[in-house]
Amino acid sequence: MAGSAKAILARIFLLLTFLGATRSQSLSNPTYNPDEVSTNLGEVESRENGPDLEFRYHDHDQMTRYLRSVSAKYPALTALYSVGKSVQGRDLWVMVVSASPYEHMIGKPDVKYVGNIHGNEAVGRELLLHLIQHLVTSYDTDPYIKWLLDNTRIHLMPSMNPDGFAISKEGQCDNTYGRHNARRYDLNRNFPDFFKANTKQPQPETEAIKEWISKIQFVLSGSLHGGALVASYPFDNTPSARICRSSVLCSVFQSYAHSPSIAPDDDVFRHLSLVYSNNHAKMSRGVSCKSGSPRFEKGITNGAAWYPLTGGMQDYNYLWHGCMEITLEISCCKYPPAHELAKYWQDNKQSLIKYLAEAHRGAHGFVMDENGNPVERASIKVKGRDVTYHTTKYGEFWRILLPGTYRIDVSAEGYLPQEVEFIVIESHPTLLNVTLHSAKRIDGGPYYRPVALPPRAPYSPPAPPSGIFASLTNSFNSIVSNIFG
Ligand SMILES: [Zn+2]
Repeated sequence: MAGSAKAILARIFLLLTFLGATRSQSLSNPTYNPDEVSTNLGEVESRENGPDLEFRYHDHDQMTRYLRSVSAKYPALTALYSVGKSVQGRDLWVMVVSASPYEHMIGKPDVKYVGNIHGNEAVGRELLLHLIQHLVTSYDTDPYIKWLLDNTRIHLMPSMNPDGFAISKEGQCDNTYGRHNARRYDLNRNFPDFFKANTKQPQPETEAIKEWISKIQFVLSGSLHGGALVASYPFDNTPSARICRSSVLCSVFQSYAHSPSIAPDDDVFRHLSLVYSNNHAKMSRGVSCKSGSPRFEKGITNGAAWYPLTGGMQDYNYLWHGCMEITLEISCCKYPPAHELAKYWQDNKQSLIKYLAEAHRGAHGFVMDENGNPVERASIKVKGRDVTYHTTKYGEFWRILLPGTYRIDVSAEGYLPQEVEFIVIESHPTLLNVTLHSAKRIDGGPYYRPVALPPRAPYSPPAPPSGIFASLTNSFNSIVSNIFG
């Protein structure tokens, strides 16, 4: 054990100095030019310009004023940007809270929460405002929050569906009025889908999210919903979704299909969901919201085991962008009376914070060439997990993994592929630096395996599987190559 551990360690290049490195660069994307923020500040609502964010619902203008006031009061810890506009022209605001709000910290993860994707599920929207407030006011007094903000960029989007929220009614627990965007599309059915081609017309809100997450490598994410109390993890869709070709068939299918759809990182997703559920005041008890609604063992569920859906945001984050997202159903009542908000905050506060810290679990590091230059879009694939992650333009990668011994394949066009073995332990992340050597031989010699990605191909669903696992194993390689290419 000691000998093999030593051998393994010898193969690991720990670049601790990278973590301590202060070099960082701005995002090149002009859409998020931080300079725009200062011209955007406008009026400051002094009543809420402090630790006294009230427990009440904030309409879009009030929310905008609040975000601007925080950004004015905490310029060293926050940056406010908009990723786009809703159908009716409302900004899709994102507040970054971090010790480095304007710049990505090289080697440190970016994480996010998205609230209110369903406009009438309003609790998450308000909780994210309170999370912002809590983070900025605790930085100087709470060493854990300070560590988190020093080592993480937290992007918080309180409302992905401000138009739906605008017509939703406080006190409405169960109906769907306000759920959709202004063109009556369900935004959590509007993303490209791995298992079944999504024919729904892409909406501005969804397009904005897709562009956003293509520009920032988010490592971990949570999408906040209401109407149940459970942490639901990928996959939401299943290979058998292809039988559902008409609305009638689909409703029958969704009512009766309750089989889990197992992701390659099922163990990690279950763990992440348990972190939320176990830190929540009552989610882990798994009590059903009302008679007739389901109970969830330990407060977690596989998405498809609850009910399958096509076009969901969490599967898309994971399969297209290597971002581990789960769906957090945080209130039995979708839009409860405002006087209950303080209780919801207390119930979820610990979960919201602890969940984000999970971005620091597992392995992360850099892929460099022989000269120490970063290799962008190198493929990172953990053996036994048929999903491919990619490095950023700085050569960074993150892979949230539970304690154990793993092997990864690292490959990039023009380089000899590398296989690296490493250990993940519980107490701190494994730093892993991989140097790729350029492929000098091009004559098909024994050591050169070209890894050029195939040309981009339009999405085509994989052939019907003989089983869920078979389908995942057989089709992930080709599909993921296509969609990531
Ligand atoms: Zn929802």
